Amino acid sequence: MSDPERRIGDLTVKIERDSCIGSGNCIKVAQSVFELDDESVVVFRDGQPPPDRAMVVEACQNCPVEALVVIDEKGNRIVP
Ligand code: SF4
Repeated sequence: MSDPERRIGDLTVKIERDSCIGSGNCIKVAQSVFELDDESVVVFRDGQPPPDRAMVVEACQNCPVEALVVIDEKGNRIVP
């Protein structure tokens, strides 16, 4: 399966599922954006209100294995 990707406001967030170790750091910061699936690998959460941009960036920065990639509207990679 290809890595999930989601547009959140002006950001594009990608989950590199093979890298995720299920630490939950991202979920602690952005519960409305991420959750763990049955395999304890992070996925995007559905049905939540649009999250705050800074919260999304912070959540992705907190990943210890750089499994969350954030690209801004100009195509610049801002995390990791
Ligand atoms: S912080 Fe990184 S390793 Fe931990 S659950 Fe989130 S994506 Fe996975």
